[in-house]
Parts: sequence; C-alpha cells; structure tokens
Amino acid sequence: MSFKDIKGQKEAKEFFQKAVSKDRLGFFYIFAGPDGVGKGLFARELAKSLFCESGALRPGKPSVGTLDNCSSCPACLRIDSDNHPDVNWLDVRESAELVSVKDARPLQDALYLKPAEGPFKVAIVRQADRLSIAAANSLLKTLEEPPPGALLILLAAALEALPATVRSRGQVVRFYPLPRDVVEKMLCQRGLGEEEARYLAAISQGSPGRALEIAQRDGFQEKRNLVEAFAHLSKENDLKVAEELYRRAGKDAQNSMERRKRLLNLITYLLYFYRDIYLLREEAQGLLVNEDQGDLVRRLSQRLKSGAVEKIITILLETKRNLLYHSNQHLVLAVLTKEIVNLAVP
Ligand SMILES: [Zn+2]
Repeated sequence: MSFKDIKGQKEAKEFFQKAVSKDRLGFFYIFAGPDGVGKGLFARELAKSLFCESGALRPGKPSVGTLDNCSSCPACLRIDSDNHPDVNWLDVRESAELVSVKDARPLQDALYLKPAEGPFKVAIVRQADRLSIAAANSLLKTLEEPPPGALLILLAAALEALPATVRSRGQVVRFYPLPRDVVEKMLCQRGLGEEEARYLAAISQGSPGRALEIAQRDGFQEKRNLVEAFAHLSKENDLKVAEELYRRAGKDAQNSMERRKRLLNLITYLLYFYRDIYLLREEAQGLLVNEDQGDLVRRLSQRLKSGAVEKIITILLETKRNLLYHSNQHLVLAVLTKEIVNLAVP
C-alpha cells in the first residue's frame, strides 16, 4: 500500500501535496468524512511520507514534489506494522464508551516526547468523535504550545460531534464517499465474487471499509437467506421467520446493543429488497440492488397488490424506529412479519 493506492480523495491529496511541497505542514488536522472511506489509510500514508528514508518530503530537504513513500524502507515497514516509536495511534473502534482523559493520556505523553527517529511526532486518533469533551480539551492543551515536530490528526465521521473548541483550532480536511463502481472494483480486487461485490458496493454508500466489514461477517449470505425467507413468508411460517431473524441477530452478539445493531442491518437488507420490488413495479429505470436474487424480486413484484410495497416499506422504517425504543425486540419482529403477511398474502 502506498499513496498511489488510495482511491479518490483528490482534495485531501492536493491539500497535503501543496502543504508539504511548500514546507508548510501544520500541527493539527481533522480528517472529516464517513467511516471506511480511507481516512485512516491516508493518515498512515502521510506519516510514512514524513518518515520515509527516501527523505524527499522531510522539511528542509529538497522535495521531489510528489506526496509518496517507498513502502519498503524500515521506517515505512514499521509504520505499516504499527511499530514506529514516533507514530502513535489511539484506536477506540471497539470501545462503546467515550474516550476519557485517562485513555487519551498515553497519546498526549507521546506527543511531548522528543521524536526518537525523525523530525516528527505523530499522534492519530481514530473515531475522534467519540472523545469525551474533557479528553478532547486535554489533547488541545498539548497544542497550545506545540512541542517541536508534533502532528496531531483526528479522524472523525461526525465533525459536529467534536467540541467547538477543537473544531475551531484544527484544519479540517474533507473525505468523501467513493463512486459505486470504484468500490465494486476494489471489492473484486479483494477477492469478493462479482455478485457480492456489486451488492455490497450498492448498499455501502461509497464506503469500501463498511462493505468489507459486512463481507467479513458473512453479511452477503445472511442477506440472501433473509430475502429468501421473506419472499416465502406465509401465514403458516411468519412467527418462525421472526424467531429465526431474532436468533440470527443474537448469534455471537456480545450484548443487546450489538444484537440491536445487527437487527437494524438485517432490516436494511429488507428495505433494499422491497425497494427493488417497488422500482420494478413502477417500471422505473435503475439497477436492482438485489440482482443476484432478481427472480425473487420479479416474482414478488408481480404478486403484490398495488400499494402493498409502499406500505411494507413504511412498516420496515417503523420497525427500525421501534427496535431503537422497544426493549422487546422479539415482539417487534413478530409484529413485522405478521403485518407483511397480511399485506402480501391474500
Ligand atoms: Zn520508505
């Protein structure tokens, strides 16, 4: 992986290209944009460019004018394996709690230390929108008199979730969703099958990271089973389907929050399925998201009565809301399948 392999994000590339070639790199940046579009990769490649032993981009040395790194010198390799003493990450991806001052302390201390090997001391915070206000302010204090060579990068999906004091101090660099065909190609290159890549690219909203996350937990097969089950929903099996949905979401889930998150994902798969049916019925142009199960989509679009699809979509949206506010998820699902059967089965 090197800078050349980062897809899209032209604005961010040009921004740093300019800053680096003019030797005007700041000390505090906020990378803002959806999860999974490459903010973390970009931060890592930027760090590699600063430490790369080719040295072309280090301030004071003649710049070759390209923001890149070799990806093979010891410095690059150590940054790639999270093993460089001057590049520190704070990763709160797995944590459900907001990051406290205590959690952020090691990173802060690292910023104060003299660089061990290079001219920089880089600190990168993933999911910085999960920092508590106290932790964010404490990090900012570090930057009131920035130690020489300090470079703080916050990665945030929701810029507005950062305290105003933080937002106003940092230079915001925007990251954007990638075009669907670019995501699809990336997924194919990662070894996903064509059908799976096409589906995940369509539902991931321009985020290859999100698509890969779904692929890793076997979400594509899960969606195929789900569509199959709902296409064959009947008065005899509706409660069983609801039960199975609940069981599947709870499998390996650590807690009820995780189960809820999975249930919401499953409902999203269903929304795309009925959206396809709606599109076909309206004879609207547009690719089916569920082309891999196109037969089921077509069969149901012929069978459903006029107005039923719209109602089912409304019910699914209500189900999402109900899953957020009701503690009895099982009951919410039983109501869902019952209501769909009433609309879909004469
Ligand atoms: Zn290198």
